[in-house]
Amino acid sequence: MIYKVNYKIHVCAFILSAIICVIFFQCLLTNLYEMIAICELSPIKGILINYTLISLTLVYVMALIHELIHGLVSILLGGKVVIGFKWVYAYTKEVSNKHFKRFEYVLILLAPVIIMTILLLPVNHWITNLVIIFNIMGSTGDIVMSLIVLKHGKNSNIISNNEGFEIIYNK
Ligand SMILES: [Zn+2]
Repeated sequence: MIYKVNYKIHVCAFILSAIICVIFFQCLLTNLYEMIAICELSPIKGILINYTLISLTLVYVMALIHELIHGLVSILLGGKVVIGFKWVYAYTKEVSNKHFKRFEYVLILLAPVIIMTILLLPVNHWITNLVIIFNIMGSTGDIVMSLIVLKHGKNSNIISNNEGFEIIYNK
């Protein structure tokens, strides 16, 4: 069965992101206020530019690390990964055609959200707190795809392809 990363997956991921945003709203607000307070202390004028720049940099670095973790876990599980760029955003793509076991594929999908959350949570600084929340919100596509994969039998194999992934059923 071939799954394309189509609009349905994007819509589910967007709704899940919105739910996560509501759940973490208070935490998001508290940490954003801390960021704005730091910007107000900055000798460089233009608070708006300051915090827009900080936010964009945070999201960019976070997305890069997120993608590298996907790639690293794929490689550790025997896959082959290429790094591509969409505009300035980096992404990793599995190109080995390897038949991953179901749990391996879920591990590749969820590794960034699990590893980054576990590593950054104890730091409890506004920067790391914002990265954790942005990263969870940015991982909803991975979470939705994991749920789709987990719906299939545990002996299923999964192959990444250009547009999504393919599930191979095994008895
Ligand atoms: Zn991801």
